[in-house]
Order: sequence, then structure tokens, then C-alpha cells
Amino acid sequence: MSIAENLNHFKNNLPPGVKLIAITKTRPNEDILEAYNAGHKIFGENKVQELVKKYEELPGDIEWHMVGHLQSNKVKYIAPFVHLVHGVDRARLLKVIDKEGRKNNRVIDILMQFHIAREETKFGFNFQEAKELLESESFKGYEYIRVKGVMGMATFTEDMEQVRDEFRELVNVFNTLKEKHFSNDPGFREISMGMSNDYRVAFEEGTTMVRIGSLIFGERNYH
Ligand SMILES: *Cc1c(COP(=O)(O)O)cnc(C)c1O
Repeated sequence: MSIAENLNHFKNNLPPGVKLIAITKTRPNEDILEAYNAGHKIFGENKVQELVKKYEELPGDIEWHMVGHLQSNKVKYIAPFVHLVHGVDRARLLKVIDKEGRKNNRVIDILMQFHIAREETKFGFNFQEAKELLESESFKGYEYIRVKGVMGMATFTEDMEQVRDEFRELVNVFNTLKEKHFSNDPGFREISMGMSNDYRVAFEEGTTMVRIGSLIFGERNYH
């Protein structure tokens, strides 16, 4: 099937209220344009350099999401245009994003990434760290950050019941934060979870954003 067909098939089966972020890492512009010309405008990258390059080369009405681990010294390159930063995984990064938002006079939307996988290699806050951050004076002073919700990556495994447990943990974190810290903020409403291998479970567990690459663009070739 072509990229456009994969995309339309996926979109036709999206539950109501769930957004598709098409992940374009390692893909050439022509592939992205095929999805764009099929009507899709929401794309994500996991590397800053690639995100900036694609933003500059591709149509201006694309909504670009940063989904990978973000280094503090690279925030400045995406601050002028990024639509949503999914992988905000440590307190210091919020400080830098707020500073760069101020410089660009734009409020930057972010998701707090939580460590839900049993693998050591995945990034993210634990609940206690997030709580301390949200209760801190510095957080209350950030005027150029808007926390839109949470993001998480499940363990890379065939065991979908383990994935389900991890997604449930993320939903619990979301609900607790919503109740304790964002009860007056209708903008805090996103749960970014689900990729090509586990999106079905994510649908069942209440995702609001799935990040899908290979299912749309085909398997990745790393050179
Ligand atoms: C690559 C990537 C995805 C998409 O992965 P697929 O398995 O190709 O769907 C989603 N989220 C993040 C953070 C990624 O790096």
C-alpha cells in the first residue's frame, strides 16, 4: 500500500478525539509530502536538526511536534515554531523552554514525559519528581510554558498485557496530576501514548495522541 493509503486507512480507524502524529524520522521530504498531499498536517520528529530542516523545507502550515529526547542547548532552534514538545523529562528543561519561549514571545506547549517502561533506557520523570516540580516556586513563575498533559513510552515487548499495565500507569499519573494540579485548567488534557506496535492497546486505555511512523511510511532503514 502507498503512504497515502496507509495514512487514510489509519485515520479512518482512529477513535473519536484521538490525534495522529505522523512520525517522519529518517524519511525523505517526498514521503512526507505524499502524506501532506493526502491531507495530513501533523508531523513529528525525534531529532532537533531534522525537525528544523524539515520545517524549513516543507509547507508552512504543518504542525511540527518534537517527540524525542531534547537537549537543553538545542531548545533555541525549535522554540520559534514547535507546536508541542512531547518529551519534557526533567525540571531543568522546563526552565530552558520558558527562557526560549520568552525570547520568542510565544508560549510553548509541552507534555511531561513519564518513565513507565520497565526498561532502564527510557527517559522521564517519576511521580515524586513531577510533584516537586509542579509545587515549586520556579514552576509557578514560568509564563512561557503551558503543560498540556503527559507522554510515555511503554517497554518494547510483544507482551501487550505488560504494555497495558504501563499505559494504565500513565493514565493514573495523568488523572492524579489533573486532580491535584490542573483541576482549573481545561487545557491539561493530552495523553500521548501509542506507537506502531502498541497503538491498539493505547486506544483501549484512553490515549489522545498516537505517534505512528512505520505503519504509515513503512519499515525504517537505518544506514
Ligand atoms: C520513532 C518514534 C515513534 C514512532 O515509532 P514507530 O514504531 O515507527 O511507529 C514514536 N515516538 C517516538 C518518541 C519515536 O521516537
